[in-house]
Amino acid sequence: MPTLVMKFGGTSVANLDRIARASKRVAREVANGYNVIVVVSAMSGKTNELVGWVNETSPLYDAREYDAVVSSGENVTAGLMALRLQEMDIPARSWQGWQVPVQTTSAHANARIEAIPTDNIEAKFADGMKVAVVAGFQGISPEGRITTLGRGGSDTTAVAFAAAFGAERCDIYTDVDGVYTTDPRITSKARKLDRIAFEEMLELASLGAKVLQTRSVELAMRYRVKLRVLSSFEEPSDNAGTLVCAEEDIMENNVVAGVAYSRDEAKMTLISVADRPGIAAAIFGPLADAGVNVDMIVQNISEEGRTDMTFSCPFDQVKRAQKAMEDAKASGSINFHDLVADEGVAKVSIVGIGMRSHAGVAAKMFATLRDEGINIKVITTSEIKVSVLIDRKYMELAVQALHDAFELEKAA
Ligand code: ADP
Ligand code: ASP
Ligand code: MG
Repeated sequence: MPTLVMKFGGTSVANLDRIARASKRVAREVANGYNVIVVVSAMSGKTNELVGWVNETSPLYDAREYDAVVSSGENVTAGLMALRLQEMDIPARSWQGWQVPVQTTSAHANARIEAIPTDNIEAKFADGMKVAVVAGFQGISPEGRITTLGRGGSDTTAVAFAAAFGAERCDIYTDVDGVYTTDPRITSKARKLDRIAFEEMLELASLGAKVLQTRSVELAMRYRVKLRVLSSFEEPSDNAGTLVCAEEDIMENNVVAGVAYSRDEAKMTLISVADRPGIAAAIFGPLADAGVNVDMIVQNISEEGRTDMTFSCPFDQVKRAQKAMEDAKASGSINFHDLVADEGVAKVSIVGIGMRSHAGVAAKMFATLRDEGINIKVITTSEIKVSVLIDRKYMELAVQALHDAFELEKAA
């Protein structure tokens, strides 16, 4: 029997009515002849609440206990969804990550899925079970501890199950009806895309578009999972939502496909470090060991053998970064005058595979920001994206101005 994966995000299971509504959608696919693997998120807001409790209890928490707490939201929705389906006379049961088991690395709070043995769930399907409701976002480490996959990780659970079970499709049900040229919450001119290339979606996701977790797109690309994003609030139709697919399957060819932003950034500058071979390793080694995800890096011009080193990292890792740098200073491996944290920055990026063959895209971006009087603090580029760090208070303005400048409201 063909298998389908259906993932419901937080807003789609936010209360019992929504769980009932999602269950009806699942029932329809069962009636269409599928064995369904449902992947659920926690009720919306729940994970934030759990993370808040952990931070309040222990600011530099033990990530194993963070995972024990934060994974619990998904257990509730998985059980409730299974109960709702049973009430509808559909044979269903819930599965927590460790029961499948979803085998992950031990990188707590940010674990990667290594394997999903299919035999337990297959055996139940063979026994007449129609729906396996899997708690998203969680797994089990080789040490037997509960892990989580990073924020937004239920998307990755869904795609990983679709790959492991050879599912016909992986449908991601969320609160928007597809992937847009930018977050529709920032501008009403955002346009829904019928299709988007894996590479573009990968960049948009990693640059902050939280509609899909980056790792889920990576997996879909690697295993050629048919991945669709659609609304759980609208009536289904055949061409609903956005299909994430190979570049060759796309007709549209805007140079820029979309604008992404990330609000939760911080810029940190080490003032006056010795400019000598090995200094970058001495700084970024300890940061990596402390679990700080460094993104942009700028080394300033050096004067009299000393330089400033600037880097960006997620806002909530500032304390960790500070501690790692103070520890490194205390151990004598680096020396600096001061560590300045600017917690009021945001990153805005433009993404498009058309940039490979078009010159002047970055220049146009910089001119657009100049015209709005927005100062750029740090720039990074790759083959298909340009990112800038700016003051957070100009973030929405920057996204809107770039969306206009690249005429993203119009299909090419
Ligand atoms: P879920 O809880 O279903 O996983 P998320 O909140 O994680 O939903 O992701 C959906 C949200 O992603 C949307 O509500 C939207 O605000 C945001 N978003 C950001 N960028 C985009 C984009 N380019 N297209 C669509 N949605 C986007
Ligand atoms: N509940 C988790 C989160 O909010 C995972 C997810 O929803 O994808 O990050
Ligand atoms: Mg999400």
